[in-house]
Amino acid sequence: MAFKIFEFISFIFLTFILLAPIGHAKRSTPSHKTSSPFDFINKLKGCHKGNNTKEIHKLKAYLEKFGYLKYENKTHATDDDFDDILESAIKTYQKNYHIKPSGIVDDETISKMQAPRCGVPDIVNGTNYMHPRNMKHEPGSSNIHTVSHFSFIEGNPRWPSSKTHLTYRFLPNFPPNAMEPVARAFQKWDSSTHFTFARAQTNQNADLVIGFHSGDHGDGSPFDGRGGTLAHAFPPTNGRFHYDADERWSIGAVEGAFDLESIALHEIGHLLGLGHSSVNAAIMYSGIGSGLTKSLHADDIAGIRALYNR
Ligand SMILES: [Zn+2]
Ligand SMILES: [Zn+2]
Repeated sequence: MAFKIFEFISFIFLTFILLAPIGHAKRSTPSHKTSSPFDFINKLKGCHKGNNTKEIHKLKAYLEKFGYLKYENKTHATDDDFDDILESAIKTYQKNYHIKPSGIVDDETISKMQAPRCGVPDIVNGTNYMHPRNMKHEPGSSNIHTVSHFSFIEGNPRWPSSKTHLTYRFLPNFPPNAMEPVARAFQKWDSSTHFTFARAQTNQNADLVIGFHSGDHGDGSPFDGRGGTLAHAFPPTNGRFHYDADERWSIGAVEGAFDLESIALHEIGHLLGLGHSSVNAAIMYSGIGSGLTKSLHADDIAGIRALYNR
């Protein structure tokens, strides 16, 4: 019992010191029922082509952000007309998330769209689905009967074949307690792929650079405060991986907080060239709920093997 109490106190302490240096925990919010930048989607329940509802321009912005929509005419990008282009974008989204492609903002679509998620787009300009591109399935190859749902980033950016050892470093503002979960995530990718990883000192050059950022932080992909997008990372060989400093972060599964290690596993996948997977259990699935942990899935490993022909 004494141990249990000690464990609990250590946990509270850990959570506190973890959140303190990040400095953006909104202490005035007592419950986990906080508002999210994606809440507007609730107000669009039942919307379909022909509707003109006040929040539709926000849905257009959401779908554009995640790669489903690209208006040539900027007026249509910001108006509230539920037009053909929006309907088609919603259908593509629904197909990617295994929802009946009705083009209607139904309950299932709302529930998926509202989920906190990675800031990296699922697809590019709405022109394709989440699936591997330029994959050659040779007759007789071992994966011919495997249904894979991983994807690559548009253009298949990847590290040169000679570059299998990657170094990473933390930006100076990185909370020391958050380093170990990230290191564990690198170890997991290290033991499951042909890549090896090692930590470099803060002042040394490294292939991968990891930091916490808040709001607009100068890389063209601003964060959106509590909820909404949680983190993002850039494809090879850029190497940047950013956590949204406004989220509640945890080590392990803590109600109302996001597990640092699970999110690191996901973002490292992007650093290596993977896009989002349509497999819910895959680490490369775009959404990761609070209070949960996730690990690498066979789909994620198959993705790396296919991308690097290993
Ligand atoms: Zn992602
Ligand atoms: Zn960023």
